Amino acid sequence: MKYDVAVIGAGMVGAAAASLLARSGFSVAVVDHQEPGPFDGSQPVGLRVSAISPGSADILSEAGSWRQVERQRHCPYRRMAVEDRDESVSLQFDAMEFGLERLGTIVENTLVQWSLWQSLLTMSAVELFCPDRVTNLEYIDGEPLISLESGTSLHCRLVVGADGANSGIRKLLGIRQDHWEYSQQGLVSVVQTSTPNSGLAWQRFLDGGPLAFLPLDDGSSSIVWSLPDAEAARMLELDEADFLEELNQAIAGGPDHWPDPVTSCGKRAAFPLTMRLSERYWANHAVLIGDAAHVVHPLAGQGVNLGLLDAAGLVEVLVAARNRQLNFAGEKTLEKYGRWRRSEAEVMARGMHGIRGIFIPGELGPLRRFGIGLISSSWTVREAFIKRATGRHRNSPALARGQALTDLLRAAPA
Ligand SMILES: Cc1cc2nc3c(=O)[nH]c(=O)nc-3n(C[C@H](O)[C@H](O)[C@H](O)COP(=O)(O)OP(=O)(O)OC[C@H]3O[C@@H](n4cnc5c(N)ncnc54)[C@H](O)[C@@H]3O)c2cc1C
Repeated sequence: MKYDVAVIGAGMVGAAAASLLARSGFSVAVVDHQEPGPFDGSQPVGLRVSAISPGSADILSEAGSWRQVERQRHCPYRRMAVEDRDESVSLQFDAMEFGLERLGTIVENTLVQWSLWQSLLTMSAVELFCPDRVTNLEYIDGEPLISLESGTSLHCRLVVGADGANSGIRKLLGIRQDHWEYSQQGLVSVVQTSTPNSGLAWQRFLDGGPLAFLPLDDGSSSIVWSLPDAEAARMLELDEADFLEELNQAIAGGPDHWPDPVTSCGKRAAFPLTMRLSERYWANHAVLIGDAAHVVHPLAGQGVNLGLLDAAGLVEVLVAARNRQLNFAGEKTLEKYGRWRRSEAEVMARGMHGIRGIFIPGELGPLRRFGIGLISSSWTVREAFIKRATGRHRNSPALARGQALTDLLRAAPA
């Protein structure tokens, strides 16, 4: 059988893309080397959570997953605060001031993956090849032929590489990447504070890197603490009491300051932090989406959001080409997707890189204070920031701006 599209990698981004493509009438093969485990809300909160923007929630809704997510453990947040290491300057955002119901929702990655997988299982246009992995990609009569470890061969018109930061598809396509090593790790854990987190996403820029508290539905917080490699290794080795002492020193503040002291924490783990940007997002009958295309610093919690925007953008471009009776896997279509999404990722990746840079201790203190002061006093700048953070700026795909997939499918040829 020949498929319209083969999606390699069914993480949050690949699975969302596969579901949207199938719902748009494309036949889709999905390959992953592991099936997501069932989500069990009676277990402790997982270590990997994401701040899902309202635009991404709309995309996941069209992909048939968000209703499932909202039935399970999730935590909307309406307030966000970002402050300098000594509380001397801070930025505050409240959903209400921008006419929003929420700024985002904290969800466990495993729940998003599981709900998308459930959606894929119900679709007749989707065939799952799992567990399996790609061993080769060649072209027969100009169209892709993918070989899998199981011996299966997949003929398709378009390959979507959604196989994460170390993408094998990107390597097979020979696409180069810019790569920045931060020599930092993101230390994650779930912590309890003396008064519960009431729905605040809080971040403080410390000498070693940013420390974030993300609210969870039971009043605890998921933390992401960016630390130099050696410091992260040391923090992982500390016993709980010593770790809490260091964490409490890092969050200490004035009388009205939250987070209140941390009283206990769960398991700790650390993930290396990098920034990667592929020099292009498309090649012969193939595109890259999600972490396969770009990896950004987690300080703004935008990695998976950027990937979901790629998925929605890809579907929008392919459907528009098909509506105009153009080749959806043709060079012009793929180039349009690639140029659009790469320029968006570049804004985000370089923005995160720059923000991280100005918060590094040193001579930029006055500049940083001036910059934050400027942002906090300008509603226009704050609104622009929120539009990007919520995935709803004017260059976002239509699905992230609230348009329904059925409207895209019905759209008259331009
Ligand atoms: C500490 C930390 C905190 C973060 N917090 C946030 C946040 O708050 N908000 C946010 O938006 N982002 C956040 N991110 C980033 C986010 O986690 C990633 O951007 C996101 O998980 C990428 O999803 P993906 O589907 O593109 O890739 P992945 O999740 O890596 O999925 C890739 C899939 O491909 C499969 N695969 C890989 N190789 C093969 C192969 N050869 N054959 C078949 N299948 C294969 C894998 O099994 C997997 O299912 C954070 C990252 C870190 C490190």
